[in-house]
Amino acid sequence: MQRLEDRVALVTGAASGIGEATAHRLAAEGATVFVTDLQDDLGEKVVASIRDEGGTAEYAHLDVASEAGWQEVMERVRAEQGRLDILVNNAGMGDMSPIEDTSLADWERTIAVDQTGVFLGMKAAAALLKASGHGSVINISSIFGTVGGFGTTPAYHAAKGAVRLLTKNTALHWAREGVRVNSIHPGFIETPILTTVKGTEFEQVMTSWTPMSRLGRPEEIAAGVAYLASDDASYVTGSELYIDGGYTAR
Ligand code: NAD
Repeated sequence: MQRLEDRVALVTGAASGIGEATAHRLAAEGATVFVTDLQDDLGEKVVASIRDEGGTAEYAHLDVASEAGWQEVMERVRAEQGRLDILVNNAGMGDMSPIEDTSLADWERTIAVDQTGVFLGMKAAAALLKASGHGSVINISSIFGTVGGFGTTPAYHAAKGAVRLLTKNTALHWAREGVRVNSIHPGFIETPILTTVKGTEFEQVMTSWTPMSRLGRPEEIAAGVAYLASDDASYVTGSELYIDGGYTAR
């Protein structure tokens, strides 16, 4: 089904993992997709692979923590496509330590990417999204934006929790302007972000804490993004979609 025909989408952190799967899915549903990331070589490969599948995609370098970077990429979207309908704020990274061992620099970098990056993205895209008539923003938070997890990674939790409420606040502000804003809260998803724990005892902890007893797949998050991006979700705004194998239902 081509639910996103004639729509233009921009996905951050789309060179890998959930962002990569999302770029593929949106393109498969008919959207023209701007694949953006810091990892240019991988991002270009995602674009090539989407084109091989018959989709339409472009690559743009974008550090989501850079306001100038956002302005530059939005100018390019406006010049090349003249519209933006879907913004997926997916780029993210994590701190690793408990609070006592988290340096101010690590805290600030995680907040800059995971939290401020979402603010900058919505701000930079506001005018194009409002002009769309089908504007949809999907902010990728986490189960750890709503529960305290393992008691570690404080900056990640703080940032993802902030994304949850920034989503609702902006959804209310744009509710009559034709732009819907929702958050997705993935559980433990098998992507490169989990490479360091793959095959360790920690992976077993993650699966045993998940009622469905397995890690999720990036495509399972991409399916949720495609739904929220499409007119099938035309009455959905300010909501939280948990795709977590039942983790937060306990
Ligand atoms: P990933 O590491 O595979 O992909 C993240 C991508 O973001 C990478 O391509 C990376 O280059 C990019 N990135 C990092 N910093 C950036 C920056 N400053 N500007 C632009 N791009 C940047 O990880 P993933 O698992 O696909 O994560 C995607 C999103 O999903 C993240 O926001 C993450 O917090 C969230 N998430 C992941 C999981 C999980 O278990 N994998 C769970 C919950 C939430």
